[in-house]
Amino acid sequence: MADRIVCKFGGSSVAEASQFQKVKAIIQADKRRRVVVVSAPGKRNPKETKLTDLLYTTYDLASKGLDFSAPWKMIADRYLGIAKDLNLATKIGEDLNALEAKLKGQDSSVTLDFLVSRGEFLCARLMAEYLDAVFVDSYPMISFDERYRITPKSYETISDKLSNENLLYVVPGFYGEGPHKEVKTFSRGGSDITGAVLANGINALTYENWTDVSGMLMADPRIVASPKPIDYVSYREIRELSYSGASVLHDESIAPCRAKNIQINIRNTNSPTDKGTIIGPTPKTTARPITGIAGRKGFSMIYIEKGMMNKEIGFGRRVLGILENEGLSYELSPSGIDSMSIVVDSKALDAVQDIVLEDILLQMHPDRVKVFPGISLIATVGHGMTNKVGIAATLFSALANESINIRIIDQGSSQINIMVGVDETCMEDAINAIYKAFVK
Ligand code: ASP
Repeated sequence: MADRIVCKFGGSSVAEASQFQKVKAIIQADKRRRVVVVSAPGKRNPKETKLTDLLYTTYDLASKGLDFSAPWKMIADRYLGIAKDLNLATKIGEDLNALEAKLKGQDSSVTLDFLVSRGEFLCARLMAEYLDAVFVDSYPMISFDERYRITPKSYETISDKLSNENLLYVVPGFYGEGPHKEVKTFSRGGSDITGAVLANGINALTYENWTDVSGMLMADPRIVASPKPIDYVSYREIRELSYSGASVLHDESIAPCRAKNIQINIRNTNSPTDKGTIIGPTPKTTARPITGIAGRKGFSMIYIEKGMMNKEIGFGRRVLGILENEGLSYELSPSGIDSMSIVVDSKALDAVQDIVLEDILLQMHPDRVKVFPGISLIATVGHGMTNKVGIAATLFSALANESINIRIIDQGSSQINIMVGVDETCMEDAINAIYKAFVK
């Protein structure tokens, strides 16, 4: 069972008939590609709306008893158009009509998640017909527990349902069975997770994630001009990078593959000979000092100062307890001897800022407490930094040379990430400066 490849095709890879043809060529090019996961059709051009978003709009209108014919027509036309262009003798038109009738009748079986999941469901049906493959629904194959975690039983069911190595399977991404037998979707972009879960379930050799870029780049190309591609990134590095804003893959899709050391290969449907980026276990050695740089805006820093803070047992725990009471999670917390800073998401803080500050004043009696908004966090990530002298010096001098003031410094003991916080307005300059310092 160890040499099958799971291939997930994202929205742009299934946006129209010509993309379906590319998918077929990719599947036929390697016989190990035996499990195909699809998203709902994405945009054919930047102005278009994703099918999933049209489904959300349709639901919103239909549930209020309003006319939903405009978005619905776009949805139906999309599927029917693909079927026609591929000459498929499909019954999808009947499915669409039945669904439309239920929506008009405000049938309670059509919940939001159910309707939105039809984006992937119908796409997978068409793909299965086109590839002459076996359609296997992800409902109820993948199931969630009460806390919306994937149940262990899912993996057994997957291994069972997709057991025939000679067959080609097509599975819709993005949803599964909720704890009350309802259709339940993942968070947005969740078809990536479906692919990863299937790869784990069948013990796949590789999980290929086909999209419209040839893998990851060392920095955001909207910030750094022509950044170098990343050939290999470890599971740990990608966690740090994607947290900090480099998004190619849903971050929850790493764990199911990591659990079985299954490599993830990001590939480009429109340029299938490009090797893309491999995400895999930590390499034993690496020549590059850094793997990538990513930055994210929208953070605030709560700064607390109090004399002899270091002697006050439980100070940090109590402050974090105040945040916990308000349901506020924190990103990092660099501290000094008599001061403590807590970096939080600005939007999340906004809702509870007054009460958090009041509680800190009343319970902690600080000398000073202040919120600094408008912070961006920049992560410079790479196993190559481990135990290497001078990396931090290079990074900080690069920022100093550009007169960028560093508000926060954090190097986790993992040593694969140096995080700096700078004013949001300097983020782009800072990333460019770091990139230039490390990439020759
Ligand atoms: N179609 C869903 C979305 O747009 C899921 C996916 O594409 O992964 O979020």
